[in-house]
Amino acid sequence: MVLADLDGVVYTGKNAIDHAVDSLNRVAADRRMGYITNNASRTAETVAEQLSGFGLTVTADDVVTSPQAAVRLLATLVDPGARILVVGGVGLTAVLEESGYSVTRSADDGPAAVVQGFAPDVSWKDLAEASFALGKADIPWVATNQDWTIPQERGIAPGNGTLVSAVHTAVGKLPIVAGKPEKAIFEAAIDRFGATRPLFIGDRLDTDIIGANRAGLTSVLVLTGIDHAKQVLAAPENSHPDFVLADLRELHEEYPATTVTVDARGTKTFRVRDARVELAGNRVRAVAEGSSRIDLLRAGAAAVWGSGLKIYGLDVDPKLYED
Ligand SMILES: [Mg+2]
Repeated sequence: MVLADLDGVVYTGKNAIDHAVDSLNRVAADRRMGYITNNASRTAETVAEQLSGFGLTVTADDVVTSPQAAVRLLATLVDPGARILVVGGVGLTAVLEESGYSVTRSADDGPAAVVQGFAPDVSWKDLAEASFALGKADIPWVATNQDWTIPQERGIAPGNGTLVSAVHTAVGKLPIVAGKPEKAIFEAAIDRFGATRPLFIGDRLDTDIIGANRAGLTSVLVLTGIDHAKQVLAAPENSHPDFVLADLRELHEEYPATTVTVDARGTKTFRVRDARVELAGNRVRAVAEGSSRIDLLRAGAAAVWGSGLKIYGLDVDPKLYED
């Protein structure tokens, strides 16, 4: 089973990422392929249509959204059919109603819980109703995700985390979060697909890779989105991916082993194919750049991560991370 994030893995903006569609279709030809998205504003059907538009073989049932994960969490917190105050759009209300909950927009209806997800038309009134409901009664508050920002064509805009934070500041409470990097969304996917130790492919260390590691999935970072060599080298231990790929073609190639040797002076050499990186004290040096940038990064990451030192305590060769 292979699970993938969307933005930065499958597409950026309106365009499919090079090699992503072919490689993922190749995966889907002989094993189950699923997609995970923190975006709460769209339904699984809408996401599946968008992905099909890029040429991917995908149906709505292959898509796990943060509202689906939120509703799965909600089921552990309130009675079946309970009245839920919603902040968010159709991506959220559709899932709640399908699951038998009744949806309200008013704190006066005595909701059993508040569920909050992003939609572009969420307003101060919605945030106020959530605050009234949470201020009045000790009820659960579930957020679909805590992404601070949403990349838009014209720049960076506030994401659900920012709107959740406004309610938090007003009421002094914190929500339970369903989306990446929390485990609920991965558990929802594992449950749905009956997967045992799936592979998860993402482009962000601080959400995708941390989340996959926490949930016990095999984590794969692909460098076609947000994070690149510099972030990989500097990644804290909980966000070290199991595999690093330059692009998704490498899903179908053999992953090279990293070998480590230590000389008499204690200098360690990390080799990935013909790339070699040395770790001596706090100095990390590329001693053979080799024929592929990604192998050099893999060897460099092994050296940095294996040093036991924080990135700011290391003197790292810029060859390992320059473009
Ligand atoms: Mg992404």
